[in-house]
Amino acid sequence: MPAQDFGCEQCGGHDADLDIRELAGTGTVLEAVLITRHPNPQVATPLTLGRIQLTEGPVVYGALSHGDDAPSSGWSGVHVFARDDDSGAGPSQVFVPVSRGANA
Ligand SMILES: [Zn+2]
Repeated sequence: MPAQDFGCEQCGGHDADLDIRELAGTGTVLEAVLITRHPNPQVATPLTLGRIQLTEGPVVYGALSHGDDAPSSGWSGVHVFARDDDSGAGPSQVFVPVSRGANA
């Protein structure tokens, strides 16, 4: 995930107050939505976006695995991990279910 520089949601700290942390890239999907049309034509659809609670605690928004085989529902509570996607068909990083991502 690229770092954001808006600052801390809790205390407002920013810049030197913040540290870069390495995260495991694993988490649990809180909710997901299927995007069938996107205003940016560069973004391939359909695309499923999720709100993911990372193992370390922060909640991030990210793309869930996409493509013909990607489920568009039933994501809530699914354990996922972030994986690079160089297929060029979508975002460069997607969250895939732990159960089926091992050899994907
Ligand atoms: Zn803070």
